[in-house]
Amino acid sequence: MSLLNPDGKTMGLYFPPGLPERGGSCAFASMRCLVNCLSYLSHNTITDYTEDVFKTKTPKEIAAIIKKELGRGKPPLIEWFCWGDCMPNMTDKVLAVMKALSAMGFVQCGFTRNKLLWTECSGLTNIRMGYTTEDFDEIDGLAKSGLVAYPNYDTGETRLYWGTHKAELPSALCGSSFMSDRATGISYEADCSVCYARKRGCFTDFVYKKVTR
Ligand code: SF4
Repeated sequence: MSLLNPDGKTMGLYFPPGLPERGGSCAFASMRCLVNCLSYLSHNTITDYTEDVFKTKTPKEIAAIIKKELGRGKPPLIEWFCWGDCMPNMTDKVLAVMKALSAMGFVQCGFTRNKLLWTECSGLTNIRMGYTTEDFDEIDGLAKSGLVAYPNYDTGETRLYWGTHKAELPSALCGSSFMSDRATGISYEADCSVCYARKRGCFTDFVYKKVTR
């Protein structure tokens, strides 16, 4: 059993999807998010294993497992919450794992609705974590602090913002198969490791900071 599992070409972490009262990790999910979830809110051996490891191991142990699994020759990118999210009572532990992975030189990305986690991890080295909101009015303010995602469940396309872009003018769009940069309007494969390698989408302005140990 592995903690890291593929999301396209990217290796990511899958937590149990759905509301906590149904065994899921999505404490901040909206009804629209739950209804449209690509996981169909199903739990499996991977999500059970991830939950078990994060409950029973220390942050250092978890980071060591991830480092070993990622191995050499793969992009140094880890995607958080391919399914599920960070439970409020897991925020400190997830942050500690993120810090440990950051110190090992890994790049981390993903999306969360846990605002505390997003706020805290946005200052860490080599992290490109997005905050998902369905409140159009808070986009402008939040985007100044980091990456923000505004999903459109009718089109399946998520608007992405960072910097000083206005809510009407997203920095990029990302669907399940294609993403496009707003500046050029050109569409590309939607895969975070490809965006990372080509400096597209969420990684447009990303500069890898070398970690000194
Ligand atoms: S734009 Fe690229 S990096 Fe951002 S979520 Fe989409 S595929 Fe991942």
